[in-house]
Amino acid sequence: MSDIISKTINATPRLLDLRAKSRENAMRLSKIECTEPMFGNWLETHSIPVLKEVLSMSDEEMTEVMGRPAGDGYSRERMLAAINTHILECPRCSLQAQLDSELEESMITKTAVAGM
Ligand SMILES: [Zn+2]
Repeated sequence: MSDIISKTINATPRLLDLRAKSRENAMRLSKIECTEPMFGNWLETHSIPVLKEVLSMSDEEMTEVMGRPAGDGYSRERMLAAINTHILECPRCSLQAQLDSELEESMITKTAVAGM
């Protein structure tokens, strides 16, 4: 059996576990209402850690990633501050942020395992 296949099979119970957990988390989230649905939809569509990272980029990095200048650093900074405040104030989005960072951590662990 090839290395990749055996690694994939070994990782399967963990993936199933993650899927069950994300269903459970979706249930939890659906019971809480966002205080600012415009933000809520946005944070739900994009991963919060990724959003924060993108908004923290410099103008040069932003142009490199987007292929064009995207807004100015000042408005991104204000947007990031508004997101951070909303996450602190909104029960739904603070849970979403917590779940996103847990998911990100488990992805990092999985990558580390796959790289063994
Ligand atoms: Zn919210």
